[in-house]
Amino acid sequence: MNDWARKDQQFIWHPFTQMQEWAQESPTIIVEGVGVFLKDLYGKIYLDGSSSIWVNLHGHRKKQIDDALIAQIKKLSHSTLLGLTNLPAIELAEKLVKIAPAGLTKVFYSDNGSTAVEVALKIAFGYFKHQGTPEKRKFITFSDAYHGDTLGSVSLGGMPLFHDFYKPLLFETIKVPAPYCYRCPLALTYPSCKMACVDEVEKILSAHHHEVAGLIVEPKVQAAAGMITAPMGHLKKIRELCTRYNILMIADEVAVGFGRTGKMFACEQEGVSPDMMVLSKGITGGYMPLAATLTTQTIYDAFLGDYSEFKTFFHGHSYTGNPLGCAAAIANLEIFEKEAVLKKLKPKIALFKEKLASWKRWKHVGEIRQEGMMIGIELVTNKKTKTPYPLTLRVGKKICDEAKKNGVLLRPLGNVIVLMPPLSISIREIKKLLLVVGAAVKRITSMV
Ligand code: PLP
Repeated sequence: MNDWARKDQQFIWHPFTQMQEWAQESPTIIVEGVGVFLKDLYGKIYLDGSSSIWVNLHGHRKKQIDDALIAQIKKLSHSTLLGLTNLPAIELAEKLVKIAPAGLTKVFYSDNGSTAVEVALKIAFGYFKHQGTPEKRKFITFSDAYHGDTLGSVSLGGMPLFHDFYKPLLFETIKVPAPYCYRCPLALTYPSCKMACVDEVEKILSAHHHEVAGLIVEPKVQAAAGMITAPMGHLKKIRELCTRYNILMIADEVAVGFGRTGKMFACEQEGVSPDMMVLSKGITGGYMPLAATLTTQTIYDAFLGDYSEFKTFFHGHSYTGNPLGCAAAIANLEIFEKEAVLKKLKPKIALFKEKLASWKRWKHVGEIRQEGMMIGIELVTNKKTKTPYPLTLRVGKKICDEAKKNGVLLRPLGNVIVLMPPLSISIREIKKLLLVVGAAVKRITSMV
């Protein structure tokens, strides 16, 4: 083991990692990136199949973003948005409002997806409080939801493995069934169910709307839950219900935003405008920690008043509106436009679909879910009974370890293999990715 590896093990506590296990292996130390590839300390090259945990869009060392950051560093790296403002933050806010679904006109910055969700929660709570309805303070959230790791966002979560442990620390939320059609929480079958899960949401809303401030949804794809894709029309129905029952619809686009589903924002897939939209991850093209919570004018206006009314939104972070993050984000959005990124995705999305179609016949592939450039391959021990592999068998991890040996980096979600490469991946690179992952799935599922 080299010196860097030893020091990593001595000093770093890694996220979502069993450190006892980590200490037994020599860590892969990434030293360089270019395009969709990463290089480790020993010169081994890997295809970044998870976009460095769903953040990278246009590849590593993208010249326009590199240049924008260098130019900004020469002017100003940081200054606060508390009492001051800065040019990149202003320019980015204008750009975000321009491309966001209609009606979202105000941008509140923070640093990561979890904090941006916290901001949305506090704004929704404050909105109703300022309107004289403080009893509207609860939140509705979907089973299997994931909205981040701070306590507020964990309270909204619905993934037992990640969230149950913290229950004593969390506030109560109202859970509604997720549109997980492969394992329907209502034991029904799509489309004959006619989306009965939405009827369940309506039942809850009609019973609880007087005490509910907001409903938070991961539009189109519940990513961390295992790329659970919602059927067309689900999001629109949820929007209609929120409007009917005067509940703020919060679209958490942290994972699905910025082109991942094939449109700039997943809400566009169903022509939906939420009351709030939460953005992070791809916002800087995968370069810098930055997040934004967008709201409507009506929500913003509820916080206006004389200082003595104390309607100020008392929330902020040291790095809110960081100029470097905003400069990277501006360059990111310019790349979308100049390089027609969304248009170029179409053949890539089609290629994934075409190639993966045959995988559905494989013995242990239960379901393949794809929404644009987000793909989840759910593995099962028995296709007929849909029996999952026991988590302790770590089939997902074993497959990803095998893929890594052959030059592809992935991160599984339990028994779901996730493919979410940078949007810039080429047709040739997609073929390589599928070749390596396909071989790993076949090899490992034939062994365990
Ligand atoms: N919301 C969603 C939908 C996410 O997928 C994630 C992270 O994966 C988050 C929020 C949290 O973002 P972060 O890890 O930047 O705090």
